[in-house]
Amino acid sequence: MIVAIDGPAASGKGTLARRLAQDLGLPHLDTGLLYRATARALLDHGQNLSNVTAAVAAARGLSLTDFDAMALRGREMGEAASIVAAVPEVRAALVDLQREFAKRPGGAVLDGRDIGTVICPEAQVKIFVTASPETRASRRALELKAQGEAVDYAEILEDIRRRDARDANRATAPLRTAEDAVVLDTTKLDIEAAYKAALGIVEKRLIEAGISSSRSLRPM
Ligand code: C5P
Repeated sequence: MIVAIDGPAASGKGTLARRLAQDLGLPHLDTGLLYRATARALLDHGQNLSNVTAAVAAARGLSLTDFDAMALRGREMGEAASIVAAVPEVRAALVDLQREFAKRPGGAVLDGRDIGTVICPEAQVKIFVTASPETRASRRALELKAQGEAVDYAEILEDIRRRDARDANRATAPLRTAEDAVVLDTTKLDIEAAYKAALGIVEKRLIEAGISSSRSLRPM
């Protein structure tokens, strides 16, 4: 079973995807890390983010085992990632890696922007997680603070709006809700309520698709 979780920055999709993967006993891929790692590799080699040849080489050189997720999660890298992610050649270079991950025996949970629309249109479960920009900015501010980064709410909100606009308006694989995705708006939900709602969506889809899970899906 493939579970595709898409949504804008700081919508909570990563946390939901991780927990769902754990409860379903499936591997999880945070595809944002691929774009973040591509941007990081470019900057580490003194290359400009608009250098398409270098960006494609960086994307092709990625291996799923060598991510330092914590080092890639910062604010600047999110912005840099969204710049390289708008380059069609970079997206194309990362497609196979993501599809191979999704095709693991038993399936996988992938989260990103285009999983349900482009990477795994065949996914049995598609959830589009969203929340208001203000709520997402507050959550991101708390998260960054916990990681020891200096935070300015207004700047974070501006980042989020800019990233939303870039991700939604790019020509290739823009952020949008797949027609067969269930929208989960977490604006008024805390993480536990959001997780329960996500589990409910998965369970319903499993029943509809006649798939049985070996795990109990009730939250612990
Ligand atoms: O999800 P995260 O915030 O880590 O993603 C960083 C950036 O990578 C996003 O703003 C988006 O531009 C890009 N991205 C993408 N497609 C994905 C995952 C992330 O374009 N599947």
